[in-house]
Amino acid sequence: MDNLEKSKSTPPAVADVLIIGAGPAGLTAALYAARAGRKVTVLEQLGPGGQAATTWRVDNYPGVPQVNGADLMARLHDQVRGFGVHFVSGQALGLEPGELHTVRTTEGFLSAHAVIIATGATPRRLGIPGELELRGRGVSYCATCDGAFFKGQPLAVIGGGNTALEEAEFLLRFASKIYLVHRRTEFRADRCVQGILQHPQVEVVTPYTPREIHGSETVSGLLVEERGGQACRELDVKGVFIFVGLTPQTEAFREVLTLDPAGYIVTTTDFATSVPGVFAAGDCRVNYSKQIVVAAGEGAVAAVVAERYLEKKHVK
Ligand code: NAP
Repeated sequence: MDNLEKSKSTPPAVADVLIIGAGPAGLTAALYAARAGRKVTVLEQLGPGGQAATTWRVDNYPGVPQVNGADLMARLHDQVRGFGVHFVSGQALGLEPGELHTVRTTEGFLSAHAVIIATGATPRRLGIPGELELRGRGVSYCATCDGAFFKGQPLAVIGGGNTALEEAEFLLRFASKIYLVHRRTEFRADRCVQGILQHPQVEVVTPYTPREIHGSETVSGLLVEERGGQACRELDVKGVFIFVGLTPQTEAFREVLTLDPAGYIVTTTDFATSVPGVFAAGDCRVNYSKQIVVAAGEGAVAAVVAERYLEKKHVK
C-alpha cells in the first residue's frame, strides 16, 4: 500500500489524537503522534499546507534554504502519510468536551481522547467597498495563486508587514509597477526584506489608507486617502493584493475555549487550552511569532504533551 492509500483508509471510530488543521503545526503534530504509535486522524479543511503553502519562497526554514512553500508542505504531508495518519476532509464546526472529546464537522462527528487544534489563521479583510465584489477579479490575498494573471500590469500591494513586502517582491516578476500602500511611514516588516522599498518599479505610498476598490467586471483603480484626510489619490491599478494581517480560525471553539480579545486561543506554555485534553499549536493560538518553523515546533511539542496526557489517562 502506498502512502496515499494508507492515509485514505477508514479512520478509527475513536482516535487517540484528533488534529484539526493540516498546516505546519497540524502536520508536525500528526508526525510526532503517529511516530509515538498513536491512532491519529487529521481533519483538513482545504488542501494540506495551510497559509504556508501559499508562500512563494520560504527563506528561513532551517536546513531547507529557498524553498517554495507549497513544495515544503507537500513534502511534509507525504512524510506524515507514510506513518498511517488518517486524513478526513471537512471543517470543524464545534467541540464538545468530555471523557472522549467530540468534534462536530461538516462531514459528521469525530471522537478522540485528545485533540490538538492547529487551525491557523486566514488573511484579514480590509472591509472596504469593492473588496468583496471584485474578489477573484483583481482583488487577491495570494500572490502565488494569482500573480501570473497580472503580467505587465500595474498593481497595488497593501500592508507594511513581512507578508506584504515579501509578496510584493514576488509580484515584481509580473507587474509593470507596484504601488506599496501602507497606512504608516514606518514598516513593521523585518529590515532584511525592506530592500524592496528602493526598487525602481515600486512606488511607496505612505501614510495612505485604502478606501475604495473601483471596477465593474475587473479592478480598474484604488482610491487611497492620506492619513489625517488631507488628500486622496486614485491609483491606476489592475490588481489589488491585500496583506494586512491574519484572523485566527477559532470561531468553532469560541463557546468552549478561552480566547483572547483578537480570537486567538489562550494556552499554557505547554500548549494546554482551558479544556483538559485539548491542546492548541501554531498561528491559531496566542504566541509571539508567526513563523512556519515556530508552528512546526509547537505542533511537535503539543503532540509530546498530548502523549503524556494519554499515558496519564492510561489510554493504550
Ligand atoms: P502583520 O505583521 O500583522 O502586518 C499587517 C500589516 O497590515 C501592518 O503593516 C498593518 O499596519 C497593516 N494593516 C492592518 N490592518 C490594516 C487596515 N485595516 N488597513 C491598512 N493596513 C492595515 O501581518 P503579516 O505581514 O500578514 O504577518 C503575519 C505574521 O506572520 C507576522 O508575525 C509576521 O512576522 C509573520 N511572517 C513572517 C514571515 C517571515 O519570517 N519570512 C513572512 C510572512 C509573515 P500597521 O503596521 O500600521 O499595524
